[in-house]
Amino acid sequence: MSGQASPYLEIDLAKIKYNTSQVVERCHDRGIEALGVTKGFSALPRIVSAMIAGGIDGLADARMENIIELRKRGIDLPITLLRIPRLSNVARVVKYADASVNSEVSVVAALSAAALAAGKTHSVILMIDVGDLREGVLKEHALGAVGCILKLRGVRLAGLGTNVGCFGGVLPEPGNLNMIVEIGDAVYKHYGVKLDILSGGGTSSLFLLERGEIPPGINQLRIGEGILLGTDTTHNRVISWLHQDSFRLLAEIIELKSKPSVPIGNIGRDVLGNRPQFEDIGIRKRAILSIGRQDAYIEGIVPIDDRVKILGASSDHLIVDITDANDQFKLGDNVAFSLTYFGLLSASGSKYIAKVYREDTR
Ligand SMILES: *Cc1c(COP(=O)(O)O)cnc(C)c1O
Repeated sequence: MSGQASPYLEIDLAKIKYNTSQVVERCHDRGIEALGVTKGFSALPRIVSAMIAGGIDGLADARMENIIELRKRGIDLPITLLRIPRLSNVARVVKYADASVNSEVSVVAALSAAALAAGKTHSVILMIDVGDLREGVLKEHALGAVGCILKLRGVRLAGLGTNVGCFGGVLPEPGNLNMIVEIGDAVYKHYGVKLDILSGGGTSSLFLLERGEIPPGINQLRIGEGILLGTDTTHNRVISWLHQDSFRLLAEIIELKSKPSVPIGNIGRDVLGNRPQFEDIGIRKRAILSIGRQDAYIEGIVPIDDRVKILGASSDHLIVDITDANDQFKLGDNVAFSLTYFGLLSASGSKYIAKVYREDTR
């Protein structure tokens, strides 16, 4: 085929739909709603449609640009903004998102004013920091923050949420998730308000879901990585009941030659400014692929054929050693890679990487 774009991201929509339906089913069995997190693939519309076809209960994204795009495409599922809003952006948040996660009372006050001005009610999830040290109010400040938010008009305190396994790598456990259940109980005792949502984290919480260890009361999870990649990076595991191969990245071989394994000449710095080290393992068969650091996060792509070894990358070229798989490849062939979460994040958002969809595999 001439003119086939390369590199390209191959996306199996049937597998994403399947993964979504599996996650949704397991959540619903425990009385939990599942939000589909779309930031990991730049909210590409066809993937969002696959999640919707899989029965997802709502959508969530960290970026307003993605949420506005979803709205423009007429998606009417509830959408939650997952990155705490900027004080300077509250009008757009209220206009396009149904709900947002929050940790600053003054931002919620600004959301309140913006919602009143727009004649809307905006739902607020107050994030509680249970120890991972990314966003959220500390436990001891939660009741005070709730009291302030309950006084505001234009916003509705929909519930509490927490985040684990991100900055601090803290594992979700019945103990730390139960903290938001306890705070929810305290909110009821103190203010007589029964909160609708207790949002207990993302993919890493599926580990507890499988074991029936999600504390009763938690009724929402926000799932990205699991649905997309079938992996759980926080627990360093594959989720056996999900597909891991919904995405493949392919890049074409543009040079294929046998070359020495050690550069010839005096060594200065490489393109990253590092002093490269080479081990002499003789003459090797090396392929140059038409992908580089401007296209995607190279540390986030992994050759599917484990006999292919990445040697390095510059802005426009990826150099791989294919000596051990020499019979498999010729000039003009594609080499296939799987992706980590950050690999997918970069490739899906990259204008240099074409997107090719498949729907007929299942
Ligand atoms: C990205 C994100 C998620 C989704 O996390 P996954 O590990 O991809 O499931 C959930 N909640 C928040 C607040 C996020 O920012």
